[in-house]
Amino acid sequence: AVGAVAVRARGLGKRYRAKWALRECTFELPKGRVAALVGANGAGKTTLMSVLAGLLDADEGSAGAVGRVAFVPQEKPVYRHFTAADMLRLGARLNVVWDEERARRWLARFEVPLDRACGKLSGGGQAQVAFALAVGSRPDVLMLDEPLANLDPLARREVTAELLGEVAATGMTVLLSTHVVSELSGVADHLLLLAHGRLLAGGDLDELLARHVGYTGPRSDV
Ligand code: ATP
Repeated sequence: AVGAVAVRARGLGKRYRAKWALRECTFELPKGRVAALVGANGAGKTTLMSVLAGLLDADEGSAGAVGRVAFVPQEKPVYRHFTAADMLRLGARLNVVWDEERARRWLARFEVPLDRACGKLSGGGQAQVAFALAVGSRPDVLMLDEPLANLDPLARREVTAELLGEVAATGMTVLLSTHVVSELSGVADHLLLLAHGRLLAGGDLDELLARHVGYTGPRSDV
């Protein structure tokens, strides 16, 4: 059965002055899944997410997402002098839809102290504040730019487990970027492979592996 589509891009292109950062990107992301956007540094991952999230205008083609989109950039957007509690207040003020309990649950899960200035938290702690605000906005599509960078292996597993839990509970769609393919095992079931701004491959991870590598692992039996 063909499922619902959460994000669609048609011939998407974006340039910075004369330099094309993104070219002829056409793909769909199925709803309720976790998709990985993989590519080397400079491949265009941040540009693609920014265009999909509506933060940058495309120069060619079109893109659209169903429902509300949240985007967490790689540089985690927290105010140094704000505590996590202050950031929750900010989330309540700035978001059209705000689920305080969901945001607090995420912070509690990662033991982020509510009364400490974000500037005094570790990089991982700051990341959790940014993630908590994003899930608190109840997005239909959640885009995370390099969410696992700068997290230790345990935190990576916990963040991905939490994300998968949110996906299962709410049907939201996640697109996360990484240049470390080994981070994706057990996390993503859909892949967008980007090189020099072009989509080398896009689709169901198992299908892509079967088609290009002849791999039919245990995941395709379920
Ligand atoms: P990274 O993993 O390093 O963040 P990326 O895959 O996210 O890389 P982008 O940041 O989207 O890649 O950059 C794609 C290309 O566009 C790169 O060549 C980059 O130098 C260029 N680029 C990105 N932002 C700008 C900008 N504001 N002005 C000019 N060129 C830019």
